[in-house]
Amino acid sequence: MCLQGIRGLRVAHWPGRGIVRRMETTVFDKILSGELPCYRVYEDEYVLAFLDINPLAEGHTLVIPKERASYLHELSDGAASALGKALPRITRAVMHATGCTAYNVLQNNGAVAHQAVFYVHFHIIPRRGDDGLGVQWNAGTLTDAAAKKTQSLMQKALAQASVAGKIDREHLHAERVASGSHIRVVDSPEVIVQLTQAFGPRGDNLVGLSDIAFDGAPALTLRVVADGQDGLVHLSPFHGDARKITDLQLEEGAKCQLLCPVSGDPLPRAQISDEHASADYYEVYLTRKLSRGESVILSDIWGHHHSRVLDNFEVLSTFEA
Ligand code: 5GP
Repeated sequence: MCLQGIRGLRVAHWPGRGIVRRMETTVFDKILSGELPCYRVYEDEYVLAFLDINPLAEGHTLVIPKERASYLHELSDGAASALGKALPRITRAVMHATGCTAYNVLQNNGAVAHQAVFYVHFHIIPRRGDDGLGVQWNAGTLTDAAAKKTQSLMQKALAQASVAGKIDREHLHAERVASGSHIRVVDSPEVIVQLTQAFGPRGDNLVGLSDIAFDGAPALTLRVVADGQDGLVHLSPFHGDARKITDLQLEEGAKCQLLCPVSGDPLPRAQISDEHASADYYEVYLTRKLSRGESVILSDIWGHHHSRVLDNFEVLSTFEA
Protein backbone atom coordinates (compact mmCIF):
# COMPACT_ATOMS: atom_id res chain seq x y z
CA MET A 1 0.00 0.00 0.00
CA CYS A 2 1.21 3.43 -0.70
CA LEU A 3 -0.24 6.60 0.59
CA GLN A 4 0.29 9.90 -1.08
CA GLY A 5 1.11 12.82 1.19
CA ILE A 6 -0.07 16.19 -0.07
CA ARG A 7 3.22 17.90 0.68
CA GLY A 8 5.40 16.03 -1.72
CA LEU A 9 6.14 12.96 0.30
CA ARG A 10 4.88 9.52 -0.33
CA VAL A 11 5.31 7.03 2.45
CA ALA A 12 4.76 3.41 1.65
CA HIS A 13 5.16 0.24 3.59
CA TRP A 14 6.22 -3.23 2.59
CA PRO A 15 6.10 -6.15 2.45
CA GLY A 16 2.75 -7.14 1.00
CA ARG A 17 0.13 -8.43 3.32
CA GLY A 18 -0.86 -12.08 3.39
CA ILE A 19 -4.34 -13.31 2.69
CA VAL A 20 -4.36 -14.82 6.15
CA ARG A 21 -1.06 -15.34 7.90
CA ARG A 22 -0.69 -19.09 8.30
CA MET A 23 2.33 -20.69 9.85
CA GLU A 24 0.99 -24.05 10.94
CA THR A 25 2.94 -27.15 10.04
CA THR A 26 1.47 -28.70 6.91
CA VAL A 27 1.79 -32.13 5.32
CA PHE A 28 4.27 -30.60 2.88
CA ASP A 29 6.48 -29.42 5.77
CA LYS A 30 6.44 -32.99 6.97
CA ILE A 31 7.24 -34.36 3.52
CA LEU A 32 10.12 -31.90 3.27
CA SER A 33 11.53 -32.87 6.65
CA GLY A 34 11.13 -36.58 5.87
CA GLU A 35 8.53 -37.09 8.58
CA LEU A 36 6.00 -38.16 5.92
CA PRO A 37 6.84 -40.32 2.90
CA CYS A 38 6.23 -39.31 -0.69
CA TYR A 39 7.11 -40.40 -4.21
CA ARG A 40 9.91 -37.91 -4.93
CA VAL A 41 10.53 -37.16 -8.58
CA TYR A 42 12.89 -34.18 -8.36
CA GLU A 43 14.95 -32.39 -5.77
CA ASP A 44 17.55 -29.64 -5.82
CA GLU A 45 18.81 -27.12 -3.27
CA TYR A 46 15.62 -25.05 -3.46
CA VAL A 47 12.86 -27.22 -4.87
CA LEU A 48 11.17 -30.55 -4.24
CA ALA A 49 8.68 -32.31 -6.53
CA PHE A 50 6.62 -35.39 -5.70
CA LEU A 51 3.49 -37.18 -6.87
CA ASP A 52 0.13 -35.98 -5.58
CA ILE A 53 -1.43 -38.54 -3.23
CA ASN A 54 -4.88 -38.03 -4.82
CA PRO A 55 -4.02 -37.48 -8.47
CA LEU A 56 -6.45 -35.86 -10.90
CA ALA A 57 -4.62 -37.77 -13.63
CA GLU A 58 -1.70 -40.14 -13.90
CA GLY A 59 1.49 -38.12 -13.36
CA HIS A 60 -0.18 -35.36 -11.29
CA THR A 61 2.87 -33.80 -9.64
CA LEU A 62 3.33 -31.21 -6.92
CA VAL A 63 6.26 -28.82 -6.92
CA ILE A 64 7.17 -26.94 -3.74
CA PRO A 65 9.92 -24.50 -2.77
CA LYS A 66 12.11 -25.44 0.19
CA GLU A 67 11.65 -21.91 1.47
CA ARG A 68 8.65 -21.97 3.77
CA ALA A 69 5.74 -19.83 2.61
CA SER A 70 1.99 -20.31 2.64
CA TYR A 71 1.27 -18.31 -0.51
CA LEU A 72 2.96 -17.44 -3.77
CA HIS A 73 3.18 -13.70 -3.05
CA GLU A 74 5.25 -14.36 0.07
CA LEU A 75 8.12 -16.05 -1.75
CA SER A 76 11.54 -14.42 -2.02
CA ASP A 77 12.95 -13.68 -5.49
CA GLY A 78 15.49 -16.46 -4.97
CA ALA A 79 12.92 -19.15 -4.22
CA ALA A 80 10.67 -17.87 -7.03
CA SER A 81 13.42 -18.01 -9.62
CA ALA A 82 14.43 -21.51 -8.54
CA LEU A 83 10.81 -22.62 -8.95
CA GLY A 84 10.57 -20.88 -12.32
CA LYS A 85 13.62 -22.79 -13.50
CA ALA A 86 12.49 -26.15 -12.16
CA LEU A 87 8.85 -26.08 -13.34
CA PRO A 88 9.42 -26.48 -17.09
CA ARG A 89 12.00 -29.21 -16.47
CA ILE A 90 9.65 -31.17 -14.23
CA THR A 91 6.82 -30.61 -16.69
CA ARG A 92 8.91 -32.15 -19.47
CA ALA A 93 9.49 -35.17 -17.24
CA VAL A 94 5.74 -35.48 -16.56
CA MET A 95 5.08 -35.32 -20.32
CA HIS A 96 7.75 -37.91 -21.01
CA ALA A 97 6.48 -40.27 -18.30
CA THR A 98 2.79 -40.02 -19.18
CA GLY A 99 2.86 -39.28 -22.89
CA CYS A 100 0.55 -36.32 -22.35
CA THR A 101 0.80 -33.33 -24.67
CA ALA A 102 -1.57 -31.09 -22.75
CA TYR A 103 -1.42 -30.14 -19.12
CA ASN A 104 -2.46 -27.51 -16.61
CA VAL A 105 -0.17 -25.85 -14.12
CA LEU A 106 -2.38 -24.90 -11.22
CA GLN A 107 -1.45 -22.84 -8.20
CA ASN A 108 -4.06 -22.10 -5.54
CA ASN A 109 -3.74 -19.36 -2.92
CA GLY A 110 -6.28 -19.05 -0.14
CA ALA A 111 -9.22 -21.20 0.84
CA VAL A 112 -11.53 -19.32 -1.55
CA ALA A 113 -9.17 -20.31 -4.35
CA HIS A 114 -9.42 -23.98 -3.28
CA GLN A 115 -6.10 -24.13 -1.47
CA ALA A 116 -6.21 -27.00 1.02
CA VAL A 117 -2.55 -27.27 2.00
CA PHE A 118 -1.19 -23.92 3.17
CA TYR A 119 2.31 -24.39 1.88
CA VAL A 120 2.92 -22.84 -1.53
CA HIS A 121 2.80 -25.48 -4.28
CA PHE A 122 2.29 -25.89 -8.00
CA HIS A 123 0.25 -28.70 -9.49
CA ILE A 124 1.31 -30.11 -12.84
CA ILE A 125 -1.76 -31.94 -14.12
CA PRO A 126 -1.64 -33.92 -17.37
CA ARG A 127 -4.81 -33.51 -19.48
CA ARG A 128 -6.36 -35.96 -21.85
CA GLY A 129 -9.71 -34.33 -22.35
CA ASP A 130 -12.67 -34.69 -20.04
CA ASP A 131 -10.73 -36.03 -17.08
CA GLY A 132 -10.01 -35.20 -13.43
CA LEU A 133 -9.74 -31.43 -13.54
CA GLY A 134 -12.85 -29.35 -14.15
CA VAL A 135 -12.47 -25.64 -14.77
CA GLN A 136 -15.33 -23.21 -14.67
CA TRP A 137 -14.39 -19.99 -16.41
CA ASN A 138 -17.10 -17.37 -16.05
CA ALA A 139 -15.52 -14.71 -18.22
CA GLY A 140 -16.58 -11.09 -18.11
CA THR A 141 -15.67 -8.15 -20.36
CA LEU A 142 -12.77 -5.82 -19.68
CA THR A 143 -13.92 -2.21 -19.88
CA ASP A 144 -11.48 0.55 -20.75
CA ALA A 145 -12.09 2.39 -17.45
CA ALA A 146 -11.62 -0.70 -15.29
CA ALA A 147 -8.53 -1.75 -17.25
CA LYS A 148 -6.87 1.66 -16.92
CA LYS A 149 -7.59 1.86 -13.20
CA THR A 150 -6.20 -1.62 -12.50
CA GLN A 151 -3.24 -1.09 -14.81
CA SER A 152 -2.27 2.11 -13.04
CA LEU A 153 -2.64 0.63 -9.54
CA MET A 154 -0.60 -2.41 -10.51
CA GLN A 155 2.13 -0.37 -12.18
CA LYS A 156 2.48 1.75 -9.04
CA ALA A 157 2.57 -1.33 -6.80
CA LEU A 158 5.21 -2.96 -9.01
CA ALA A 159 7.33 0.20 -9.10
CA GLN A 160 7.28 0.39 -5.31
CA ALA A 161 7.99 -3.30 -4.97
CA SER A 162 10.99 -3.18 -7.23
CA VAL A 163 12.40 -0.08 -5.58
CA ALA A 164 12.07 -1.71 -2.16
CA GLY A 165 14.97 -3.99 -3.07
CA LYS A 166 17.13 -1.04 -4.13
CA ILE A 167 16.90 0.86 -0.88
CA ASP A 168 20.01 0.58 1.23
CA ARG A 169 18.29 -0.43 4.44
CA GLU A 170 21.59 -0.78 6.25
CA HIS A 171 22.27 2.93 5.97
CA LEU A 172 18.78 4.32 5.96
CA HIS A 173 16.98 5.21 9.11
CA ALA A 174 13.38 6.01 8.35
CA GLU A 175 11.09 7.09 11.14
CA ARG A 176 7.54 5.97 11.38
CA VAL A 177 5.53 9.11 11.09
CA ALA A 178 2.40 9.71 13.05
CA SER A 179 -0.73 10.19 11.02
CA GLY A 180 -1.24 13.78 10.07
CA SER A 181 -3.07 15.86 7.55
CA HIS A 182 -0.30 15.50 4.98
CA ILE A 183 1.28 12.09 5.65
CA ARG A 184 -0.42 8.89 6.51
CA VAL A 185 1.33 5.69 7.38
CA VAL A 186 0.11 2.15 7.53
CA ASP A 187 1.54 -0.30 9.98
CA SER A 188 4.41 -2.34 8.58
CA PRO A 189 8.11 -2.79 9.33
CA GLU A 190 9.59 -1.10 6.28
CA VAL A 191 9.09 2.49 5.26
CA ILE A 192 9.70 3.93 1.83
CA VAL A 193 9.96 7.69 1.55
CA GLN A 194 9.45 9.05 -1.93
CA LEU A 195 9.71 12.70 -2.93
CA THR A 196 6.91 13.51 -5.30
CA GLN A 197 7.78 17.19 -5.51
CA ALA A 198 10.72 19.34 -4.41
CA PHE A 199 11.38 23.01 -4.97
CA GLY A 200 14.39 25.16 -5.65
CA PRO A 201 14.99 28.51 -3.93
CA ARG A 202 12.65 30.33 -6.35
CA GLY A 203 9.89 27.73 -6.20
CA ASP A 204 10.79 25.73 -9.30
CA ASN A 205 9.66 22.12 -9.02
CA LEU A 206 12.68 19.87 -9.48
CA VAL A 207 10.88 16.50 -9.42
CA GLY A 208 9.74 15.45 -12.87
CA LEU A 209 11.76 18.19 -14.54
CA SER A 210 13.19 15.67 -16.98
CA ASP A 211 11.57 12.51 -18.30
CA ILE A 212 14.01 10.39 -16.28
CA ALA A 213 12.28 8.11 -13.79
CA PHE A 214 13.40 5.45 -11.35
CA ASP A 215 11.02 2.48 -11.22
CA GLY A 216 8.34 4.70 -12.68
CA ALA A 217 8.94 7.56 -10.22
CA PRO A 218 10.15 10.90 -11.63
CA ALA A 219 13.68 11.87 -10.64
CA LEU A 220 14.81 14.86 -8.56
CA THR A 221 17.03 16.90 -10.86
CA LEU A 222 19.82 19.21 -9.67
CA ARG A 223 22.54 21.14 -11.47
CA VAL A 224 26.04 20.36 -10.26
CA VAL A 225 29.22 22.30 -10.94
CA ALA A 226 32.47 20.62 -9.93
CA ASP A 227 36.01 20.12 -11.22
CA GLY A 228 35.38 22.34 -14.24
CA GLN A 229 32.27 20.36 -15.20
CA ASP A 230 28.70 21.62 -15.22
CA GLY A 231 25.73 19.33 -15.72
CA LEU A 232 22.50 17.83 -14.52
CA VAL A 233 22.23 15.04 -12.00
CA HIS A 234 19.01 13.04 -11.79
CA LEU A 235 18.60 11.48 -8.37
CA SER A 236 16.25 8.66 -7.43
CA PRO A 237 13.33 10.21 -5.54
CA PHE A 238 13.32 7.29 -3.08
CA HIS A 239 15.29 8.04 0.05
CA GLY A 240 17.99 5.46 0.61
CA ASP A 241 18.13 4.53 -3.10
CA ALA A 242 21.58 5.79 -4.18
CA ARG A 243 20.96 5.57 -7.94
CA LYS A 244 21.65 8.65 -10.01
CA ILE A 245 21.87 9.38 -13.71
CA THR A 246 24.30 11.99 -15.01
CA ASP A 247 26.83 12.71 -17.74
CA LEU A 248 29.23 14.18 -15.19
CA GLN A 249 32.44 12.25 -14.62
CA LEU A 250 33.40 13.13 -11.10
CA GLU A 251 35.69 11.45 -8.61
CA GLU A 252 34.28 10.34 -5.28
CA GLY A 253 34.92 13.10 -2.77
CA ALA A 254 34.73 15.99 -5.27
CA LYS A 255 33.34 19.16 -3.74
CA CYS A 256 30.25 20.27 -5.69
CA GLN A 257 28.29 23.42 -6.14
CA LEU A 258 24.59 22.53 -6.02
CA LEU A 259 22.32 24.73 -8.11
CA CYS A 260 18.71 24.92 -9.14
CA PRO A 261 18.65 23.65 -12.74
CA VAL A 262 15.83 26.09 -13.64
CA SER A 263 16.84 29.42 -12.08
CA GLY A 264 20.56 28.68 -11.80
CA ASP A 265 20.49 29.96 -8.20
CA PRO A 266 22.62 28.11 -5.66
CA LEU A 267 20.65 25.90 -3.32
CA PRO A 268 20.34 27.43 0.14
CA ARG A 269 22.75 26.29 2.83
CA ALA A 270 21.18 23.99 5.43
CA GLN A 271 21.62 24.77 9.09
CA ILE A 272 23.09 21.48 10.20
CA SER A 273 26.39 20.60 11.77
CA ASP A 274 29.23 19.24 9.66
CA GLU A 275 29.32 15.44 9.71
CA HIS A 276 32.04 15.06 7.10
CA ALA A 277 35.28 17.03 7.36
CA SER A 278 34.77 18.90 4.11
CA ALA A 279 31.01 18.57 3.59
CA ASP A 280 28.57 21.42 3.53
CA TYR A 281 24.86 20.78 3.39
CA TYR A 282 22.23 22.29 1.12
CA GLU A 283 18.52 21.97 0.89
CA VAL A 284 15.59 21.71 -1.46
CA TYR A 285 12.10 22.35 -0.16
CA LEU A 286 9.23 19.94 -0.25
CA THR A 287 6.44 22.47 -0.36
CA ARG A 288 5.74 25.66 -2.21
CA LYS A 289 5.97 27.49 1.10
CA LEU A 290 9.74 26.94 0.79
CA SER A 291 9.92 26.15 4.49
CA ARG A 292 13.00 24.65 6.14
CA GLY A 293 10.57 22.45 8.07
CA GLU A 294 9.76 20.38 4.98
CA SER A 295 12.96 19.86 3.09
CA VAL A 296 15.61 17.49 1.84
CA ILE A 297 19.14 18.16 3.03
CA LEU A 298 22.02 16.97 0.85
CA SER A 299 25.79 16.83 1.20
CA ASP A 300 27.85 18.69 -1.42
CA ILE A 301 30.49 15.94 -1.61
CA TRP A 302 30.17 13.62 -4.62
CA GLY A 303 29.54 10.06 -3.42
CA HIS A 304 28.92 11.15 0.17
CA HIS A 305 25.40 9.87 0.58
CA HIS A 306 24.41 11.84 3.61
CA SER A 307 20.93 13.22 3.35
CA ARG A 308 17.91 13.85 5.46
CA VAL A 309 14.26 14.36 4.81
CA LEU A 310 12.58 16.76 7.20
CA ASP A 311 8.90 16.92 7.75
CA ASN A 312 7.24 19.36 10.10
CA PHE A 313 10.72 20.32 11.38
CA GLU A 314 11.40 16.71 12.37
CA VAL A 315 13.72 14.22 10.75
CA LEU A 316 11.62 11.73 8.84
CA SER A 317 14.50 9.73 7.39
CA THR A 318 18.27 9.83 7.41
CA PHE A 319 20.53 8.18 4.85
CA GLU A 320 24.21 7.87 5.78
CA ALA A 321 26.18 5.68 3.42
P1 5GP B 1 -4.43 -27.53 -3.00
O1 5GP B 1 -5.93 -27.65 -3.08
O2 5GP B 1 -3.95 -27.05 -1.67
O3 5GP B 1 -3.88 -26.73 -4.14
O4 5GP B 1 -3.87 -29.00 -3.23
C1 5GP B 1 -3.27 -29.77 -2.27
C2 5GP B 1 -2.89 -31.09 -2.93
O5 5GP B 1 -2.06 -31.80 -2.03
C3 5GP B 1 -4.06 -31.97 -3.26
O6 5GP B 1 -4.07 -32.27 -4.63
C4 5GP B 1 -3.84 -33.22 -2.41
O7 5GP B 1 -4.19 -34.40 -3.08
C5 5GP B 1 -2.34 -33.16 -2.14
N1 5GP B 1 -1.95 -33.77 -0.89
C6 5GP B 1 -2.53 -33.57 0.32
N2 5GP B 1 -1.90 -34.29 1.26
C7 5GP B 1 -0.90 -34.96 0.64
C8 5GP B 1 0.13 -35.86 1.09
O8 5GP B 1 0.23 -36.20 2.27
N3 5GP B 1 0.99 -36.32 0.16
C9 5GP B 1 0.91 -35.96 -1.14
N4 5GP B 1 1.80 -36.46 -1.96
N5 5GP B 1 -0.03 -35.13 -1.59
C10 5GP B 1 -0.92 -34.63 -0.72
